[in-house]
Amino acid sequence: MTLMLPCFAILNPMKKVKVLNITGWGRSGSTVLGSILGNHQDFFFGGELRNIWKQSLLNNRLCGCGVPFKECSFWKKIFDNGFGGIDNVDPDQIVKKLKFSYYSRFAPMKLLPFGEKYFRACAVSLPEIEKLFLSIREITNCKVIVDTTKSPLYGYLLSLMDNLDVYVIHLIRDPRGIAYSRKKKILQPDKEKVIYLERFNSFDSSFKWNMRNLLSECLWKKNKDKYLMIKYEDFASEPKAVVNKILDFISESRALTPFISSNEIELGINHSAWGNPSRFKIGKVELKIDNEWKNKLNTFDKFISTVCTFPLLLKYGYKVNY
Ligand SMILES: [Zn+2]
Repeated sequence: MTLMLPCFAILNPMKKVKVLNITGWGRSGSTVLGSILGNHQDFFFGGELRNIWKQSLLNNRLCGCGVPFKECSFWKKIFDNGFGGIDNVDPDQIVKKLKFSYYSRFAPMKLLPFGEKYFRACAVSLPEIEKLFLSIREITNCKVIVDTTKSPLYGYLLSLMDNLDVYVIHLIRDPRGIAYSRKKKILQPDKEKVIYLERFNSFDSSFKWNMRNLLSECLWKKNKDKYLMIKYEDFASEPKAVVNKILDFISESRALTPFISSNEIELGINHSAWGNPSRFKIGKVELKIDNEWKNKLNTFDKFISTVCTFPLLLKYGYKVNY
């Protein structure tokens, strides 16, 4: 009988890789929050790491440092160390296996008798993700890896991996602010082609806002040691205080953040794999709340967004009228 050995051993619990996953619905300030945390000396900001297989390895999009991913010496080291070279990875297969995590409708499967077993099998079938996180920690010597993939199912999948110790920040923003941002045409910098961020109409954005937020709560809220809900409006008004709250939550030092005042930061170059173009910002950045939608989102979209997210928006403390 042949005994199949796993490709890497399960680590001692103390040696698990600490992952901070920011979940919720996009345009909630997750990239800025991730960048700030990534400039903490003990943290590494990977951006939306679920997309590293498709956007970085298959499409060779820009790394946060500004060069095409496959030319970035940092990521070359990570893949050389973890996989014996970037060419030893089959990103197509990984993208296919991760496809289910894009659809919140798969989440109710967790409630079925075989649900947990099914998701555990999905986690086991993706050892490349653990290898990636382990290699990042080995090369950077960081204590925490920040992953801003805002898919509750993806975060849940990470939490089922033996070598990862996953903490979740559930970031919530007023759905009308997101609806306004989601309608905008925003360029994603790239060397080869013109790419814009995915756009949504107010109805679709609001529907996804409900799904993502409800699902985040269902999957994580009972786990008080691993889940923290943060509102964008609080973060944008008092960024330093909120970042300190997050650092306390995951028991990491408050002393090593990039804040130069309560709302100003000094950002260095990062190697985020994918995410909002704000990940390319470096230097001194002043943080302030973005309320442009209050004056610029048209009445129809405000109405659609308010009706479609009722009553959840009241539960999160947002007013019906502005
Ligand atoms: Zn880079």
